[in-house]
Amino acid sequence: MKKQTKAIRTQTRKTQYREHSTPLFLTSSFTFESAEQGKALFEETEEGNIYSRFSNPNVTEFVDKVCMLEGAEEGIATGTGMAAVFASMAALLKSGDHIVACRALFGSAHQIITQILSKWGITHTYVDATATEAEWEAAIQPSADKPAAKMVYLETPSNPGLELVDLAMLGRLKEKYGFILNVDNCFATPLLQTPIDFGADLSVHSATKFMDGQGRVLGGIVVGRADLMQQIRFFARHTGPSMSPFNAWILSKSLETLDLRMERHCRNALILAEALEKHPDVATVKYPFLPSHPQYDLAKAQMSAGGAVVTIELEGGFERVQAFYDALQIPTLSSNLGDARTIVTNPNTTTHAKLKPDEKALLGITPGLVRISVGLEDIDDLVADFEQAATVSAEALRQSV
Ligand SMILES: *Cc1c(COP(=O)(O)O)cnc(C)c1O
Repeated sequence: MKKQTKAIRTQTRKTQYREHSTPLFLTSSFTFESAEQGKALFEETEEGNIYSRFSNPNVTEFVDKVCMLEGAEEGIATGTGMAAVFASMAALLKSGDHIVACRALFGSAHQIITQILSKWGITHTYVDATATEAEWEAAIQPSADKPAAKMVYLETPSNPGLELVDLAMLGRLKEKYGFILNVDNCFATPLLQTPIDFGADLSVHSATKFMDGQGRVLGGIVVGRADLMQQIRFFARHTGPSMSPFNAWILSKSLETLDLRMERHCRNALILAEALEKHPDVATVKYPFLPSHPQYDLAKAQMSAGGAVVTIELEGGFERVQAFYDALQIPTLSSNLGDARTIVTNPNTTTHAKLKPDEKALLGITPGLVRISVGLEDIDDLVADFEQAATVSAEALRQSV
């Protein structure tokens, strides 16, 4: 069966009430039918739920669906995307290990690598997303001042630069050097890109974004190779970043419509990007499936569609962004993304405000950069609104000088 059918038809076994939709298993623990069963469950000679910090039917249903979508052997769900990222690193790295990461990372992933793992003697090297194979290889190999990479961690497409990392190239390097390839697949979702097919060992997600898709709950998930997942499961079972059954119930239901939503998100995003690229008052537009994207061929090779995030550059800096926001009628101003509702973000003053000027420059974060998480509204309405806001804000700025 195809992914779409399985995302809808994968379901927890029916209870004696013959319900159609999976019920919510809001229970912290599970009962033993006998002393022997309790013993067997703890000895792991019998499989089953014991306590919801370890497993819960709603959480298992969600995990099973994501494993199926990603082509992964096993997975664990966590309370947030960051808990998933942290568990995937903390469970597998030890003092003295080296992590090579793409420079363009979600802010908190950057903080984990530079401020938290460093306390435990885990060192790192950053590489540009668009670095050549030789540059990645140099960072991965041991040298006088660092050991060989134990893990390579990256996001593609990146936030907010929408730069791509060549997954096939890193898959080849992994074959040669044997590091753990760990990919944050949040922006693409497993419907547009499956890193495991390119050799990734782990795929992590903030389920808070497109998997939920309607901005309701937080969640995270790590899926991948069974032997690595065993170590991550041990870490999670004893440190407790578990996903709540309620959030898992929401997220599992949401996966039934992920394919449908991503199709519309991507179609809307491409049409909006094409329209804004033609607009005289928009300086530049970046979107992986626009032929003008510097890595358009790579995008076509590793993604089945361009995703829901478009960035635009407006001339006039923050003042222009203010005027643009004031003129927009439909989008919401928020730092989140992956919602049915279109969201605009100014990374320079919000999500990436804490970066130093040179780091911002390396990531292409300018005062006039606007990240658009394109929603599911009617595309004619969105195009008309963004076009008028670009015109009106440019005019407002011309009059103020
Ligand atoms: C949002 C996000 C995260 C963090 O997820 P939370 O659910 O907010 O903890 C990690 N990576 C990427 C790419 C994200 O967009």
